[in-house]
Amino acid sequence: MQLNTLDTSPSFSSLLLDESLLKAINKMGFLYPTPVQQQAIPPALEYKDLLVSAETGSGKTAAFLLPALQHLLTIPTKRYGTRVLVLAPTRELAKQIFLQCESLIEFTELKAGIITGGDDFRLQQNMLRRNTEIVIATPGRLLELMEQEAHDFTNLEVLILDEADRMLDMGFSEDVLTIINSCNTQKQTLLFSATLSHSGVIKMANKVLTNYETLTLNTLHDGHRNIEQQIVLADDGDHKQKLLAWLLLNESYDKALIFTNTRLNADALRGPLRGQKLRVGVLHGEMDQKDRNRMMELYRDGSVNIMIATDLAARGLDIKGINLVINFDVPRNGINYVHRIGRTGRIDELGLAITLVKHTEWNLMSGIERFLKQKFTRRSVKELQGSYKGPKKLKGSGKSVGSKAKVEPKKKVAEKIKVRHRDVKNVGKRRAPTNKTLTPEKAVIQESES
Ligand code: AMP
Repeated sequence: MQLNTLDTSPSFSSLLLDESLLKAINKMGFLYPTPVQQQAIPPALEYKDLLVSAETGSGKTAAFLLPALQHLLTIPTKRYGTRVLVLAPTRELAKQIFLQCESLIEFTELKAGIITGGDDFRLQQNMLRRNTEIVIATPGRLLELMEQEAHDFTNLEVLILDEADRMLDMGFSEDVLTIINSCNTQKQTLLFSATLSHSGVIKMANKVLTNYETLTLNTLHDGHRNIEQQIVLADDGDHKQKLLAWLLLNESYDKALIFTNTRLNADALRGPLRGQKLRVGVLHGEMDQKDRNRMMELYRDGSVNIMIATDLAARGLDIKGINLVINFDVPRNGINYVHRIGRTGRIDELGLAITLVKHTEWNLMSGIERFLKQKFTRRSVKELQGSYKGPKKLKGSGKSVGSKAKVEPKKKVAEKIKVRHRDVKNVGKRRAPTNKTLTPEKAVIQESES
């Protein structure tokens, strides 16, 4: 299905890109620029700062790489040092940007390098010393290297911040600003974010961009028209496991991606699914980089066609042929939901996203529907009917009646906290935080991998 690119779209050659880039684009099979590419490439070629809202799957990587590469090819320099720096929140996303960059520069003399946590520190030091023109990095490891090597980016010409909303959510704000402070102030900055409704993103844009243009390509509320979104009600975890196995055995798909909210659940699902002779892999933040890379390769080449992943591990995952996403756990918020289902139904593909919902997750799910201003299709599996049919009574908001947790008066909560502090002092030890005390956002940060 042709979705984002139409026969009437301008061609890549009308964007006046270098022949070597057009040759690479052709080899990569891109026929027409996607909307984000059509809108972002021309102003970026004029060396303007941009704030762009575009999601993974929209073609945003080429939208920022192509003008940056064109700049490198048309403006030769005698100065040394990195000329283009791309910052991304996770290793997987950095790797994908790097791979796309390698394909785009195939017919040029340009060199690109990648810097992420988990990979060899010394090799990365050497790469920085060699004055590689294009560096793609996660902020944590890059800063570590910069501190050890006294490396800076005084000759930088283009800075790209990809998935800035996620970088902020993961607590990288300070690191990113420290890196930016070591950069040439005359550079061009392109800031890409899945959403512009994140107040931190606008603050960051105002700090780091100059006379910038804003391009709003899509918002989280646009809906994913090429993704069929369904929910299936479940009685409990056991019932969910059976439903999951049934769906994986009966749906037709090339690759399926299963999301859980915790590493524990991800690991726990592998055995039962393998028991059904399904080709399953697991991807989460506690695995070392080598295992994660190997797992990604097996998934990419189809040796395993079902991947169970946590949110962060799957962030930015760009693998062709994922046409089924199943949320084993309802995601903790609407943004995570959008990122999860965005793994399917990518450019020119159709996708199916199914969320398994038990009674304790109903309100979370209806909150996500409200957030997206969408109602998911209710579906049941005849062979595995459960007893839970949804709340008996619904509020106007879609939440179940009578399910609101009692809110303690503020004064009482403050007193409780005081007592707890006193207890902790008396014992002379700090209590280790448990997952229970984490907000969803902090839980994500705890899973941070950079
Ligand atoms: P991205 O949003 O950058 O993660 O891109 C999503 C996928 O779309 C990647 O697999 C790209 O290789 C692919 N892609 C990017 N631009 C185009 C295009 N103009 N036509 C077809 N596919 C594209």
